[in-house]
Amino acid sequence: MFGQMMQMPLTIGSLIDHAARFHSAGEIVSVETAGGIEQTTWGTVSANSRRLASALRKLGLEQGARCGTIAWNNRRHLEIYFGVAGGGFVCHTINPRMGPEQMVYVINHAQDQVLFIDATFVPAASKLAPALQHCKHIVMLGPRDDAAADALPGLLFFDELLETGNANEPWPALDENAASSLCYTSGTTGDPKGVLYSHRSTVLHTLAGNQPDGINISAMDTVLPVVPMFHVNAWGVPYIAAMTGCKLVLPGPNLDGKSLVNLIDSTQTTLALGVPTIWMGLLAALKETGSKIPSLKRTVVGGSALPPSMIPKFAEYGVDLLHAWGMTETSPLGSMNQLLQRHVNLSAEDQAAIRLGQGRPPYGVDLRVVDEAGEVLPHDGAAQGDLQIRGPWIVETYFGKDTSALTADGWFDTGDVATIDSEGFMIIRDRSKDIIKSGGEWISTVALENIAIAHPAIANAAAIAALHVKWDERPVLIAVKAGEVSEEELLAFYKGKVESWQIPDRVIFVDELPIGSTGKVQKNKLREEFGKVLLEG
Ligand code: ADP
Repeated sequence: MFGQMMQMPLTIGSLIDHAARFHSAGEIVSVETAGGIEQTTWGTVSANSRRLASALRKLGLEQGARCGTIAWNNRRHLEIYFGVAGGGFVCHTINPRMGPEQMVYVINHAQDQVLFIDATFVPAASKLAPALQHCKHIVMLGPRDDAAADALPGLLFFDELLETGNANEPWPALDENAASSLCYTSGTTGDPKGVLYSHRSTVLHTLAGNQPDGINISAMDTVLPVVPMFHVNAWGVPYIAAMTGCKLVLPGPNLDGKSLVNLIDSTQTTLALGVPTIWMGLLAALKETGSKIPSLKRTVVGGSALPPSMIPKFAEYGVDLLHAWGMTETSPLGSMNQLLQRHVNLSAEDQAAIRLGQGRPPYGVDLRVVDEAGEVLPHDGAAQGDLQIRGPWIVETYFGKDTSALTADGWFDTGDVATIDSEGFMIIRDRSKDIIKSGGEWISTVALENIAIAHPAIANAAAIAALHVKWDERPVLIAVKAGEVSEEELLAFYKGKVESWQIPDRVIFVDELPIGSTGKVQKNKLREEFGKVLLEG
């Protein structure tokens, strides 16, 4: 016997419809690529999204057609998120920090028929254009611009394209399992792999990710996603924002600390989301500018490990920090770190120690750790193994592949090494390709880095496995100085903080660490450069 309730497909169009119906006057602030700040509303974004869907149909696009975007976080990009997916097409966000070869690869692999680009990327797009095999139209986000039209013959302009669309055309009826958006992993090894989200997976991720024990955005919030819309759906914030009708602040291209402080103060932002490097820039700018960012109540941090000093530093400004973990393949929210009732009476330090972990899975996500033979390990907070995940917003098959990406029993292996305790609190100990195997024992690079970063004369550090004749691998620390410190002093700083056999064999000081397209230190590059230093002489 079936239940007798309405069948309403879970679609992205329904999210923006909700915003338009019940939060039509809700504000959206967008820093424009050309400079200046634009104020708009959910009502206008909704109407423009429908116009865009209608205009794309008039261009001859069929359901499922992929549309690429190379754009900052701004109002037009938001309209593409909803208009492309709502119209039954697939919004393929492209990371502009990928190299040109990888960009051509993903655009051709996705078979993008339309490419939406911000003005910043007109020069890059004119170089890529001849290599794009399926692209029929390139559209610049903005009004007509003669210089851009000369640089890229045939270029269309977003504002003119919108005028050809009809805001009153209804969304097409879509199966909730239809593809809605596409994002490629950054492909540090091998070609990038595409993750094809569905309307249903996106809506479920939106609902579960915004629980009170999750990101917890309400209509009362003013939300600043610094996390880019070009990677992993900006952690789902555009969809959560539409679902809640919160005030949304889109920061455009300038993500330096000072610009962010100004934007937070001028818009009275209450919640901001981004990777740790962004917050390091913001904290430095706070010192410089003297602003106390009084409106900001919370930040969400994820994408790479949270440096331990960040929680107390934000606390000085009265800002709570929520640590979250996820990946392209998981939409991305896989765990978020909100405390439990029994933690309420702990000291600030003890609470901070718990918050440093990656947190608990929301309803809908299941996590486990397995050993090298694939045997499931206990959730005791100590057994460390490969982290696997499953749930309705986790990838099953990469785009264009015909074999499943899952284990034989239906779990996705994340490539992270973690522990999970009996309450589900998960801690990422390392990435499996980074962890150091010294004489058969594992050493966590994350643990070594956290100690180094806590040293006042160290700005940033990465620990890598260097080949060793006797122990196979030994830790070497690559560090960037913020003040005066010698190799001996830094190594002495490790004493008593880790077992003596875990202390790095060497420290190599460099001017900067190589950072990849998603803002993470590229340890594979460091291993290429320094992986043999212990073999020499
Ligand atoms: P890639 O950069 O390889 O494309 P993603 O951007 O999808 O991958 O990032 C996923 C990876 O980032 C995770 O597997 C994990 O290693 C790392 N990561 C994400 N969030 C955190 C976090 N809060 N703490 C530690 N590592 C994290």
